[in-house]
Amino acid sequence: DQSVSDVLSKVEGKSTADIVDVFIRMVPPNIIAAAADGQMLGLIFFSLLFGYFLAQSRSPQTDTVRDFFNGLMDIMTLITLWVMKFAPLGVFGLVAKTVADTGFASFKPVLVFFFTVAIALAIHAFITMPLLLKYIGRINPTKHYQAMSPAMLTAFSTASSSATLPLTMECMEEAGVSQRVRGFVLPLGATVNMDGTALYECVAAIFIAQAFGIELSFVQQFTIVVVALLTSIGVAGIPAASLVAISIILGVIGLPLEGIGLLMITDRVLDMMRTAVNVFSDTCATVIIARSEGEKTKLV
Ligand code: ASP
Repeated sequence: DQSVSDVLSKVEGKSTADIVDVFIRMVPPNIIAAAADGQMLGLIFFSLLFGYFLAQSRSPQTDTVRDFFNGLMDIMTLITLWVMKFAPLGVFGLVAKTVADTGFASFKPVLVFFFTVAIALAIHAFITMPLLLKYIGRINPTKHYQAMSPAMLTAFSTASSSATLPLTMECMEEAGVSQRVRGFVLPLGATVNMDGTALYECVAAIFIAQAFGIELSFVQQFTIVVVALLTSIGVAGIPAASLVAISIILGVIGLPLEGIGLLMITDRVLDMMRTAVNVFSDTCATVIIARSEGEKTKLV
């Protein structure tokens, strides 16, 4: 019957072998070739492995490697910030061209995209997180929101997890979380734990595909989720950092890079929201870990 064949046609050719293939592609046989061909999945996997073992290594020689990569990151951050200074001009050009071509009709999908991200972030921050706080951390979510509001407001206004870190530390201290736990979990969380960013990257990539009328297979959607998760770990806690990660996802899936232009229109406001969620999820993880370490905290 019709519905059965519909479902069948949807799952046909999307066997688990395709998903296994995503994982096989994650391990590049030749890292230099992977870099030259822009095989992002392999590169990300290798970089994570490299970074992990670099952090594990105790030999003095690796200090040089660490310094080198730290220096490289400082330079890249400066270049990014410098390039972003031109963003308003670029956004103006992109938006002006779109409006000239299609009139204001093209803003409707952007609005739908905006609200999709906003609602998804709200569900994460106001449903998923409180449930974790209540049932795993066994603390009062309302008290947690109150205690964390200064950090969340700062995250919202600066759109930078890193810039908010000192305040997040202070809020956690006032909430009665020990220096031992917050000193370890918060700086780690500010750099690697970005729920809001991962969520945004997924919605953004699917939005761009739809905007260009490209149908995504199940495996491609799955790849988006995997790459979004991996890249959100590497995204820096600075404004608009997600855009770099999204360009990586677009490359992996083979979507047009120009799609980033569509995101520019709403990026700042969505950046403020996802950064607040990023910081909030760090604070949730910190109290949950503090509780699991037997700390009482003032949020019970
Ligand atoms: N601005 C975000 C943050 O600092 C990163 C991002 O662009 O998603 O957490």
